[in-house]
Amino acid sequence: RRHVVVVGAGMAGVQTAVALREQGFTGPVTLIGAEPHQPYDRPPLSKAVLLGAAEGSAFPIDFDALDVELRLGLAVTGVRAAARELDTEAGPVPYDVLVIATGAEPLTLPGTGDVPGVHLLRTLDDAARLRPVLERKHDIVVVGAGWIGAEFATAARAAGCAVTVVEAADRPLAGALPTEVTAPMADWYAEHGVELITGARVAAVESGAVLLADGRRLPAGAVVVGVGARPATGWLAGSGIETGPDGSITADAYLRTSLPEVYAVGDCASFPSARYGRRLLVHHWDNALQGPRAVAANVIATEAAAGAGGAAPEPPPQRYDPVPYFWSEQFGRFVQYAGDHSGADTLLWRGRPEDGPAWTVLWLREGVLVAMVSVDRPRDLAQGRKLALAGARLDPRRASDPSVPLKAA
Ligand code: FAD
Repeated sequence: RRHVVVVGAGMAGVQTAVALREQGFTGPVTLIGAEPHQPYDRPPLSKAVLLGAAEGSAFPIDFDALDVELRLGLAVTGVRAAARELDTEAGPVPYDVLVIATGAEPLTLPGTGDVPGVHLLRTLDDAARLRPVLERKHDIVVVGAGWIGAEFATAARAAGCAVTVVEAADRPLAGALPTEVTAPMADWYAEHGVELITGARVAAVESGAVLLADGRRLPAGAVVVGVGARPATGWLAGSGIETGPDGSITADAYLRTSLPEVYAVGDCASFPSARYGRRLLVHHWDNALQGPRAVAANVIATEAAAGAGGAAPEPPPQRYDPVPYFWSEQFGRFVQYAGDHSGADTLLWRGRPEDGPAWTVLWLREGVLVAMVSVDRPRDLAQGRKLALAGARLDPRRASDPSVPLKAA
């Protein structure tokens, strides 16, 4: 009975431990997390937790009952693969099988790390620091009109703050969605009383103000930086575990790393998608739920083979090739996205933003549904996601009619 050690006690690490037990693994499992808090869920941090509507977001999981050893407040600093040992602040920890689930770290604005009143929003501690900022109803400048920036701006407006969002690109969500889809989204900011300044670079942040490169000076009782995140993999330097230029651990289609019996899952890992024909790095919750199920199945299959005196099955039983999914709650709307539209050749509107608040965009490649984004049309998303998973073809005319359910052609 070999010892599985999971590094990182966020969604992906916790779900790996849960999936191992659900799938019948009876050996020792240790879950190590750098944060001191009981493992918690991140999406509520920019929503209910920020507004004080929920105290925390700890996972309702009894780790004792699962027989999972939790070691919290312990950062892992390195891997010595030849010895199958981790280095930690509390000394070495041996493992037989290693699962890396260290997530991502938010990017900062250069030169603003020590400026008082500049915040990030990634951890429970960040949210706890931001709550009193919202209560004091400061003028707030948000840097970055991505998912986190939009959600934070929504919460800050709900709390009664004056909010300005500064975005370097010419539109919100520039890295995530094409211009025609983000154009109606830009209007949501003004509609909610948020000033959106696009095409603007932050030159400096000083106490009480943000200076833009064009000379404008924005009063700011607080600044929230939401300019993206990068896999938390710096601690793997010298371990022999391969990472890519984006900092992600370059896992294979079974979520194995370049070292034997070392897996990587969640925000820290990229994987080759046969479905979309490119490597994907997904920084969303559902990926940290589904990926661990594949890891657990592959760990258990190797374990079973070793127990029977055989070699690990090749290939392992569970390929990970999802239709990625995520949601965002912003400006009173429920936005959902599934798939990957980068290789699409056709974009279809299903309902038009100028005709009503709820609409969906579908992307097809050679007639097959590959991705979709929907605003307050969760049924489209639920149906579309299944169709994308099945590789279904759509009749473009029928699919564009929002009054009929989405169906395969
Ligand atoms: P993480 O949640 O980052 O967990 C990794 C853990 O590993 C952390 O606790 C970290 O402290 C720990 N760790 C890192 N390095 C070490 C080390 N060396 N040793 C020990 N421990 C270490 N997704 C959606 O789909 N919808 C949403 O609405 C949504 N809202 C979000 C709101 C916020 C504010 C944030 C920050 C994220 C949101 N996400 C959302 C994204 C989603 O939360 C992440 O994709 C998910 O948390 C990824 O899980 P993970 O376990 O891979 O990484």
